Amino acid sequence: MPLNLGNSSNTSDPRHVKVLVLGSGPAGLSAALYAARAELEPLVLTGIELGGQAALTHTIENYPGFPDGVGGSELGELFQKQAERFGAKVEFDTANSVDLSARPFKVNGDGGEYLADTLIVGTGARPNHLEIPGEYELTGKGVSYCATCDGWFFKEKKVVVVGGGDSALEEGLFLTRFATSVTIIHRRDSLRAGKVLQNRAFGNPKINFIWSSVVTEVIGADKVTALKLKNIESGAESEFPTNGVFIFIGHTPNTQMFKGQLDMDEMGYINANHLMETSVPGVFVAGEVADSHFRQVITSAGMGAAAAIQATHFIEKETLNP
Ligand SMILES: Cc1cc2nc3c(=O)[nH]c(=O)nc-3n(C[C@H](O)[C@H](O)[C@H](O)COP(=O)(O)OP(=O)(O)OC[C@H]3O[C@@H](n4cnc5c(N)ncnc54)[C@H](O)[C@@H]3O)c2cc1C
Repeated sequence: MPLNLGNSSNTSDPRHVKVLVLGSGPAGLSAALYAARAELEPLVLTGIELGGQAALTHTIENYPGFPDGVGGSELGELFQKQAERFGAKVEFDTANSVDLSARPFKVNGDGGEYLADTLIVGTGARPNHLEIPGEYELTGKGVSYCATCDGWFFKEKKVVVVGGGDSALEEGLFLTRFATSVTIIHRRDSLRAGKVLQNRAFGNPKINFIWSSVVTEVIGADKVTALKLKNIESGAESEFPTNGVFIFIGHTPNTQMFKGQLDMDEMGYINANHLMETSVPGVFVAGEVADSHFRQVITSAGMGAAAAIQATHFIEKETLNP
């Protein structure tokens, strides 16, 4: 199908662009940088989380080029600035529905309709909830999914972290700056997190562990006062007093609106080949929306670059051979 190439300077509704990027995390903004440098004037719809999940964390120490680490939100701002320098436009809008049945693709956002010759999906993932009594009621009142955002409120208080992966340990270590103690509750008897983080956590006097246990209820009237725990080996139940609980138990990809239009795996991650191509020609993916394995800033950024390079080839090919 020949492409009807858009003009990103046209601001009437619907806006028609050559490359529409969904998401302003490392994947989306890296894709925008590469598409901008190919002079495709990409438009980025940010979603509600500018900078993506990376912006939620205090310091990122494993993104190359920053030997002393870099603030999570600072890195997002740098990504955006670099993409904008080459002509990317960043719009504070969230896509609600897409129609990928014909090109140009149609995307409906809060701010209006967009037409896109190519689409790069970088909508990432969101934290999983425990789905237990008290969790929703006490969110913002002691239940949190972001240590960087809420850690400060727990100065001189006791907190719990639920989980055993990299995020749980990173955020647990960060919380030791404020809290008097950080108890990590994990359903297994060993951690999934990387060795460096494990060593730091085991060596931190403020951090202790409760193994092979799950949280079954968050207790409190208008703020968290305790957690109900169950040991999954013995079945024994207990109450653990705490002022707060930070939950880091994995993620769900933000792919609901693509169901039935793009091939996905059983977890809802979008299937893509090594060229970041999806089941629909002209639709590319990047980052955690298609990657439940690496889940890093650098890998997501790399996928963003790859997706934009392929979107550029796609447009060139279609322009030369309409
Ligand atoms: C607490 C925490 C600490 C971390 N620490 C590190 C670390 O130290 N080092 C590291 O490498 N990685 C770290 N990570 C992981 C890293 O942040 C992610 O791997 C990375 O952000 C994924 O990038 P992404 O662009 O694929 O998706 P995300 O970062 O999830 O970004 C998704 C973007 O899509 C947008 N979006 C969602 N839905 C829509 C929609 N409908 N329309 C438009 N936009 C939409 C969102 O607003 C967001 O901007 C951490 C993650 C967390 C949660």
